[in-house]
Amino acid sequence: MKIIMLGAPGAGKGTQAKMIAEKYHVPHISTGDIFRANIKNGTELGMEAKKYMDQGLLVPDELTVRILLDRVAQDDCANGYVLDGFPRTIPQAQVLDDELAKLGEKIDYAINVDVPDENIVNRMSGRRACIKCGATYHIAHVPPKKEGVCDVCGSELVLRDDDKPETVLNRLKVYHDQTQPLIDFYTAKGVLKTVDGTKDMQDVFQAVTDILG
Ligand code: ADP
Ligand code: AMP
Repeated sequence: MKIIMLGAPGAGKGTQAKMIAEKYHVPHISTGDIFRANIKNGTELGMEAKKYMDQGLLVPDELTVRILLDRVAQDDCANGYVLDGFPRTIPQAQVLDDELAKLGEKIDYAINVDVPDENIVNRMSGRRACIKCGATYHIAHVPPKKEGVCDVCGSELVLRDDDKPETVLNRLKVYHDQTQPLIDFYTAKGVLKTVDGTKDMQDVFQAVTDILG
């Protein structure tokens, strides 16, 4: 099963993708997580990506596509995957489609997690991420058991640099300009499904599993 998560930054794509990965036994692939791991490890790729991420801009398609295609070619992706944060532009979606077509494959579902802009700044300013394992929390909606400490690995929780309100507004604009057109792209392919992302995360997941079966 090959699934794409669509939606504004902070809509809950990662939260739902993690739950999908667990239930359906497919890897959760987040290009944002791959870039952040590279930044943490000080790689050349990380340094290049950071220039864009810090401004709320998209990392160039060429670089992003290369990373993603390498990742989905790995053995654990043989039975599918859930992509979170990719594609984010029409050219990215087109390359993915073309590469899958060469293998006689296609995306089965594009799940659009729909959350209005008004809710997004609150979602992102309350998001806290573990510096070590990447687990995410929300200070009001999904709090960790102990403030500032990851439930999973005990490391420190931080506000992502690009979750500061001024950057969030840029990211939302980028989303509307460059990523939202993917809704029409996947609608035309007959695979788009929309869920109401303003509901409680378990209710959103119920809607997702109703779609995926
Ligand atoms: P995305 O991957 O789309 O950027 P996340 O999954 O990281 O978004 O979610 C953004 C923030 O909102 C996180 O702090 C997360 O804990 C919280 N969150 C996710 N889903 C919900 C929900 N249904 N209701 C309330 N808060 C949520
Ligand atoms: P995310 O963790 O998905 O919110 O992504 C964080 C940041 O990483 C984005 O704001 C972009 O700068 C960059 N990024 C992640 N995925 C992509 C992508 N598919 N295309 C371009 N940039 C991306």
